[in-house]
Amino acid sequence: MSHIAYVNGRYLPQQAARVHIEDRGYQFADGVYEVMCIWNGYPVDLAGHMQRLNRSLKELQMASPASDGALTLILREVVRRNRLEMGTVYIQVNRGVAPRAHAFPSAKVRPSLVVTAKHGAGPSETVAQAGVKVITLPDIRWERVDIKSVGLLPNALAKQSASEAKAFEALLHVDGTVTEASSSNAWIVTPDKTIVTHPPTNAILAGITRATVLKIARKAGYSIEERPFTLTEALKAKEVFLTGTTTFVMPVVQIDERPVANGTPGTIALDLRQRYRAYMDGLTDAAWNA
Ligand code: PMP
Repeated sequence: MSHIAYVNGRYLPQQAARVHIEDRGYQFADGVYEVMCIWNGYPVDLAGHMQRLNRSLKELQMASPASDGALTLILREVVRRNRLEMGTVYIQVNRGVAPRAHAFPSAKVRPSLVVTAKHGAGPSETVAQAGVKVITLPDIRWERVDIKSVGLLPNALAKQSASEAKAFEALLHVDGTVTEASSSNAWIVTPDKTIVTHPPTNAILAGITRATVLKIARKAGYSIEERPFTLTEALKAKEVFLTGTTTFVMPVVQIDERPVANGTPGTIALDLRQRYRAYMDGLTDAAWNA
């Protein structure tokens, strides 16, 4: 299977693709990224990912490496060269290459842009139909996790703990209030069937899947509240689920050692998963015209 990466203006076999050792992404995690799903060769929520990328860049006073139009052409070309039908594209923008110093380099330093592709879209449907286990951990991240920065060490540590506990994800909480999971957004369905998820503040990453699932859920007539919820509420919830670019809608059936409700995937989570799937199945070439 071909693996072609885009690096600062060139398309290269991934093995030959290189970044500079004084790239600030490498030295300071001074970079931002996006992961976008490619479904049947079409991008899922291209406009949303572009908007979030531009927002992350702006929040970090980082120059944009390419216009939205140029970046879309690059993404299309990476998808084409990798013959990517089902998978993800990864976009990373770093502040650029300069002798190591904490403060920003001169404005003349160009940001670096890397785009790679990965075949295979998310965990299997069997995993989703069975539902997954999550563990709970304190959220030890900084106060600007709304910026999609590559500084993901706390997320990586949380996912490693989940993995060691044979869990799919780690639900992160601040003093018992759930923010999100290590690489997905967290949702509950209350006993009165209200769907609840954390509002898009600085305490969470505003997931693109989260936004689309909110839209789909509203259209389907579900009652929804965007407010923080506690671990206690999650343990008493009718349903718990996660959303993300690679997980879509994922029912949670166990939190630490306790089952969620009767320990089987919730009907609302499965319904939203199916509706999200239908949304992706309905994409056409127009999805590239963000
Ligand atoms: N929260 C975090 C911390 C994440 O890393 C991700 C995945 N990028 C998400 C939420 C879900 O966001 P999205 O739906 O845009 O993939």
